Amino acid sequence: MMNRRIKVGMVLLIVILCLCPGCEMSPQRQSHDRPLKALIVNGQNNHNWKASSPLLKEYLEQTGIFEVDAATSPAKKSSEAEMETFRPDFSPYHVVVLDYNGQSWPKQTKKNFVEYVRSGGGVVVYHAADNAFPEWKEYNEIIGLGGWKNRNEKDGPYIRLRDGHFIRDMTPGRAGSHGQKHEFEIVNRQAHPITRDLPAKWTSCMDELYSELRGPAMNLTILATAYADPGTGGSGEHEPVLFTVEYGKGRVFHTVLGHCKGVPAPAIECPSFIVTFQRGAEWAATGEVTQKTGL
Ligand code: ZN
Repeated sequence: MMNRRIKVGMVLLIVILCLCPGCEMSPQRQSHDRPLKALIVNGQNNHNWKASSPLLKEYLEQTGIFEVDAATSPAKKSSEAEMETFRPDFSPYHVVVLDYNGQSWPKQTKKNFVEYVRSGGGVVVYHAADNAFPEWKEYNEIIGLGGWKNRNEKDGPYIRLRDGHFIRDMTPGRAGSHGQKHEFEIVNRQAHPITRDLPAKWTSCMDELYSELRGPAMNLTILATAYADPGTGGSGEHEPVLFTVEYGKGRVFHTVLGHCKGVPAPAIECPSFIVTFQRGAEWAATGEVTQKTGL
């Protein structure tokens, strides 16, 4: 029989291990912490991150639940040595907002980011961030669907709505397109914490409707779609515009909306973009949405 003292000691050890926040992979962040810590990653983009990132920061702060920092990479066309200096520490954050579409990150930074998500970190993929890093396998698994930069059927399926269900469509073809900027109808497809209090349909502001995205699309939940009307140069499909991805213990909210090449920018300043971004960021950070903000 086990010595009683050893037995009691083991029980105590198990209790301590369960309660000790330092025993988790990411000791600094707990989903009930307030304020929630958000990190916006930027520095390179084919869009105007100097205009978009301050707005994203403002939107997060407006909720009253986020404290926001930024990690800014070296500028475009930096040398490999300059890029090597880009070493943000993701681990203290509840959510990382990606406003980045540029040069490769250092190997260690990529590794740290994947580990951050895998161990339960939240991510928001904003607009052109889903163009980034076509060659980085884990990044594409995290964003779920991506576009441009020679992506095609080798990168995964399209997600298509057929007979009321979303299917994986392996038809060969390009990944990433959009027609003319226009206002389009967005259809709420899911009773999810992010979309639960939103109407069944709403209209976007003048925006790009990202279409024909492809990717690993694993553990993906489509929250909302928009019909890309061929009349405005669209694909003729109900394109996913808001969706989530589960990656390890991490939660990812992906919004293809919010095109911004300078302010004023109706797409990123659009109330429906703001509300879905704010709700999506909170969900990615905690798995819940406590904001009452609706449309
Ligand atoms: Zn754009």
